Amino acid sequence: MTATRRIHLCLCHMSGNEQRYIDEAFADNWVVPLGPNVDAFEKDLQAFMSKDDPSRSHIRIAAVSSGTAAIHLGLVLAGVRAGDEVMCQSFTFAASANPVTYQGATPVFIDSEPQSWNMDPELLDTAIADRVAKTGRKPRAIIPVHLYGMPAKMDEIMEVARRWDIPVVEDAAEALGSRYKGHACGTFGTYGALSFNGNKMITTSGGGALVCPDDESRARAVFFATQAREAFPYYQHEHIGYNYRMSNICAGIGRGQMTVLDDHIAHHRKLAALYATLLSDVDGVEFHGNPDNSSDANFWLSTITIDPELTGGLTPDRMRLHFESLNVETRLLWKPMHMQPVFKDAPAYTNGVSSRLFSRGLCLPSGPWVTAEDVEMIAGEIRKLAAGKL
Ligand SMILES: *Cc1c(COP(=O)(O)O)cnc(C)c1O
Repeated sequence: MTATRRIHLCLCHMSGNEQRYIDEAFADNWVVPLGPNVDAFEKDLQAFMSKDDPSRSHIRIAAVSSGTAAIHLGLVLAGVRAGDEVMCQSFTFAASANPVTYQGATPVFIDSEPQSWNMDPELLDTAIADRVAKTGRKPRAIIPVHLYGMPAKMDEIMEVARRWDIPVVEDAAEALGSRYKGHACGTFGTYGALSFNGNKMITTSGGGALVCPDDESRARAVFFATQAREAFPYYQHEHIGYNYRMSNICAGIGRGQMTVLDDHIAHHRKLAALYATLLSDVDGVEFHGNPDNSSDANFWLSTITIDPELTGGLTPDRMRLHFESLNVETRLLWKPMHMQPVFKDAPAYTNGVSSRLFSRGLCLPSGPWVTAEDVEMIAGEIRKLAAGKL
């Protein structure tokens, strides 16, 4: 059976409301990197991230040009400088770690725990102690990630961070709408980073946001995102700045997307639950679900691991190629940063978890365009593959 239309991993979806905000921006000649859509999009995000959660009423949002820019600004505000070390999750997309190098700092990679697949808090603690012993200095920041929207063990990570007094830049690029112990992912760290790239939970065509702890730090983020121009009648600069602010046009798309964000999240979760049910009795295939009720993932992507011993040596890549022949896009899990040639000289603290996930895991299609029938077809093919019938 060949699908006639391509089923994508996670394709963006316009609500129809985006055009109105863009038209308004054109009508008012607000086609610049500030304006009413940027202000309103930030307010919408702030309301979303602190919804039903008074403990998060202090957070403020700075909309920027990408999730990568948000992480970079978070590191700048955390005081990361040339020669510093920054503790990074190894199992992630390169954009979590690249901004460390923009600051002339060195990433130190930490492996994952097997429950959430994110930064192992115990290994983090051991690694910080070892860095202090080896270099005589504390790492300057910690960047945990909520990979595939699955919340990291933030209580434990924040406990380690507080004990060592190290700021946390929380990479929530894949986790808009995920909650951990009732709080929005992206609101635990000193700063949080969101992404609105084309394939994320919502899109602004390209964009991101920095979640800040108060008005003052948000103002500081906007200052650095707009070339660090001091308050003088002429252009006075006392710091190196960046051109990272979101445009009023992109923010118009974001405002439209916010009107369907809850629907999108509900749909991702519904598909994940369906995958989990349909795959629950398939030997050798495990759906990656919430480890316990502390976590409420957005299931940006649904992911599985395949045990080669129970599936006659089935590899994720064999599965990927089979789905490609059906015009279904799947993807291997992220290749850990400590295995990447570009980071071969960076220190790494490993436990085998992320390298095993890389060799065994696969991302399955999710998002607004994927239907329950698609999931049934995909799960049926996985069942056949695992049983050696294809
Ligand atoms: C997408 C992503 C980023 C970067 O976001 P951009 O908006 O694409 O710059 C950072 N970290 C993770 C984990 C991501 O998935």
